Formats: sequence, C-alpha cells, structure tokens
Amino acid sequence: MSTSVLEHGSAALAEPPATMQAAVVRSFGEPLRLEEVATPVPGWGEVLVRIEASGLCHTDIHAAHGDWPVKPTPPFVPGHEGVGIVVAVGPDVTEPVLGDRVAVPWLGYACGTCDHCVSGWETLCHQQRNTGYSVDGGFAEYVKAAAHFAVAVPDGIDPLDAAPLTCAGVTTYKAVKVSGARSSDLVAVFGIGGLGHLAVQYARIAGARVVAVDLHDDKLALARELGAEFTVNAAAEDPAAAIQSLGGADAAIALAVAPKAFADAYGSLRRGGTLVFVGLPADNRLEIPIFETVLNGITIVGSIVGTRTDLREVFELHAAGRTRVIREERPLAEVNEAIAAVEAGHIPARVVFTP
Ligand code: NAD
Ligand code: ZN
Ligand code: ZN
Repeated sequence: MSTSVLEHGSAALAEPPATMQAAVVRSFGEPLRLEEVATPVPGWGEVLVRIEASGLCHTDIHAAHGDWPVKPTPPFVPGHEGVGIVVAVGPDVTEPVLGDRVAVPWLGYACGTCDHCVSGWETLCHQQRNTGYSVDGGFAEYVKAAAHFAVAVPDGIDPLDAAPLTCAGVTTYKAVKVSGARSSDLVAVFGIGGLGHLAVQYARIAGARVVAVDLHDDKLALARELGAEFTVNAAAEDPAAAIQSLGGADAAIALAVAPKAFADAYGSLRRGGTLVFVGLPADNRLEIPIFETVLNGITIVGSIVGTRTDLREVFELHAAGRTRVIREERPLAEVNEAIAAVEAGHIPARVVFTP
C-alpha cells in the first residue's frame, strides 16, 4: 500500500481525486442536484472517508425541505449514515488509521469538555456539529469527518448493514434504553420505517413484548417477522384503544412523522408509562392533557440519536447476529426518486445508496 503526503503530518492511501460526485441541496423544497464538487481535504484531527454505503434517513428529507425550527444553510450535502474506508488522514490523527472502515454519524463532533460531554451525554453538547446538516454529509463519494467521532465498524459487518445502524440503529437502541423497557414490559413502537424496524428488535432484545403500529399492512407484517407480537394498523383502528385493550403500554416510542402518532402513543400508555419522543414531524405541535399526565404518572422524554458508545454496542449486537437490517440498495443518482418513495411509504425499511 503506497502512501503519499498531502501536507505536513497528513497521509493518504493514494491521492484522492480533486473532485467528486455529491447530491447537493441548493434550496429547500427543490430536488437534490447531482454535482461535481471539490473533494474535501482533511484538516487537523480529521479524516477523509471513501463512501461505500450511505443510508437515507427521514431526517435528510426534513433537511432538504427545511422542515425544522433550526435549519441547515444551503448549499449542503445531506447524509449521516455514511460508511466507508479511511483513505486520508489530516495532521495529528492517531485513530482511525488508513484503511479502517468507519461510520460517520449525525454526531459529527462534540467538544469533549462541557458538562454534557463529560457526563456521557455528548449528544446534548452545545458545540456539536451534525453531519449532513451543519457540515457536509455522506451523499457523496467522499466525506470528511472528525477522527474522534468516526466510529469503527467491526470486521464482518456488511457496510450496507452498517449504514442504517449508524442512525436508525443507534437512535432506536438509545430510545429503548431511555424508555426503561425491561422483560415483561409491553413496548409500543409507532412508525415501522427505517427507525421502527430496528426499534422492534432492540425492544425484544431488552426482553419486552412489542406492539407495532403503522399505516401500512406490509410494514406491520415486517414488524411481526422481526419479533412484534401484536400489530395495529392506525389507518383502520384506534391504536390507543387497541393497546389499552392489551393492558396499555409500559413504554411507547414515537417514531412516525406525524403528531397524530404522538397523540396515539400518549393514549396507548398504562399508568406509570413512559412516552419517548424521537420522530421530528414538520408540524411541531402536540396537545397533552395536564390532568391525565399527573394523575396517571406519565413520563415524557425526548431522545436524540445516541453516543459513540451506543453505536459501538449497536455494531456489537449486529456482529453477534442479534439484529437484521432490512434495506434496499440504490445508486446515489436516484436520490430524488428514493426520497419520493420514502415519503409515499413504499420502502420496506431503509434505502441505502452506493456511489
Ligand atoms: P420513515 O419514513 O422510514 O418511517 C416513518 C414511518 O412512520 C413510516 O413507516 C410511516 O408509514 C409511519 N407512519 C406515518 N404516520 C403514521 C401514523 N400516524 N401512525 C403510525 N405510523 C405512521 O422515517 P425514519 O427514517 O424512520 O424517521 C422517522 C422520524 O424520526 C423522522 O422524523 C426523523 O427525522 C426522526 N429521527 C429522529 C432521530 C432522533 O435522534 N430523535 C434520529 C433519526 C430520525
Ligand atoms: Zn437519521
Ligand atoms: Zn460538549
């Protein structure tokens, strides 16, 4: 393996090309554009990753639409489920090394010294940078990453599986942890998309019984295949009533892109239950009754992605054969068609792009 020096202290497997293909958001609500852009150059403490696989999270769709109160600044490259090989390192990088396979998640950087970072809550760091949102992401041939936040992908994990685990996996793994789910609990998972198909599996691993809720029967069939004991089609029946008839959920995890699902999830809880907010619908409002929340001792908690440690655990579980990733491979050139298919509910779970 020949290495060439980019600048003092930098190294590369081979000189990366000066330009690369990327899917770029030029303005909110418009289709992404496939463009030839400059290949990023890793600076101090950074690495350059040649993308092998890059998952399409619904967050990328929100980003491209400018759906949220805090918006990215176009032009930008979405994608925070990028997995690939470290092909160049900037000065002062000891880990990862050239040739390593890494994942480049949403948490692209955190300061490492604030109260949140030092107490195991780096995902709450005010200084954080978010891949595919505040810094360019993985819908490209290459992505630049802070070396300390590129998470090693263990040998034996297919990069096409590692990609969805990098956000959908770590986010739902953490949400199940935060829900406090344990054996004998009933966990309701609202939204069986990219996130939900993994949430079902992590809730089962925690020992819980699972009820899955979606609007599409094929997604509910998938949830059963992945371990859900009960399913409810929210387009056909009231999920709150259906889940109350099972005794109510000890925890409900709201992953759907509609406030209605959050209201249904709230209504599905038994006394003492916990509602975990994970989905981030463009419509940012939900009405919660105070009286019932108090009398029923309900906990509501927001959960944002997961830490590097959570992601390591997610990879460990997958390497041990405990999880299945359901994904459909597509060329990055089909990014707009893929987004339309996700929005229409036509994708079984996750789309994974290959450059
Ligand atoms: P997805 O499109 O793959 O899945 C959403 C699922 O919800 C679909 O299967 C859809 O049919 C279902 N759904 C829609 N309306 C419903 C309803 N009323 N009741 C039940 N199910 C319904 O999306 P995804 O990639 O899994 O992401 C889901 C959400 O989570 C997005 O808003 C995304 O931005 C957010 N997200 C949050 C975090 C976090 O850290 N909190 C991380 C990643 C994604
Ligand atoms: Zn995501
Ligand atoms: Zn911090």
